[in-house]
Amino acid sequence: MKPHACYTICAAMEEALEVPKFAADRTLVRLAKWLRLMGADVLCEERLSAAEALALAREQGRRMLTRDKRLRTAPDVLYIQSHLFRDQIREVMARFPFDARRHAFTRCSACNDLLHEVPREVVVRRVPPFVYAAHEKFALCDRCGRVYWGATHLERALRELASIGL
Ligand SMILES: [Zn+2]
Repeated sequence: MKPHACYTICAAMEEALEVPKFAADRTLVRLAKWLRLMGADVLCEERLSAAEALALAREQGRRMLTRDKRLRTAPDVLYIQSHLFRDQIREVMARFPFDARRHAFTRCSACNDLLHEVPREVVVRRVPPFVYAAHEKFALCDRCGRVYWGATHLERALRELASIGL
């Protein structure tokens, strides 16, 4: 029997739901960028105070990550103890584990938009010639125009995750 037409769509939606949605306050910008590289959807706007970010997090169903002590006792907030980003990643993964290896490299670390794969020709003028020559696969962020390619971004990110035992 052929699978129902909805099957692939439902599977894709389920997959998207597996990756947690976070909001991080402005003291956690570096953590936010790393979680995005790992595939998580992370709202992090430096113009927002921690309290404003929390309000948005609640509105959008995001888990709030903060180092603001005033929010420490809020029941729906993960207060991050460490100021070191590697330990911060561990704290987040201990509480909200997800498969970072599977989802890595799907989101722009700078603006949180989803990346999409583009043909090499599209990025020929946007990356240094040695990068263009050395790589087959490129992904682009529509919002900021940042180009991602395997070796420098993905592998570095995965090495970093391996170094902290994830
Ligand atoms: Zn971007």
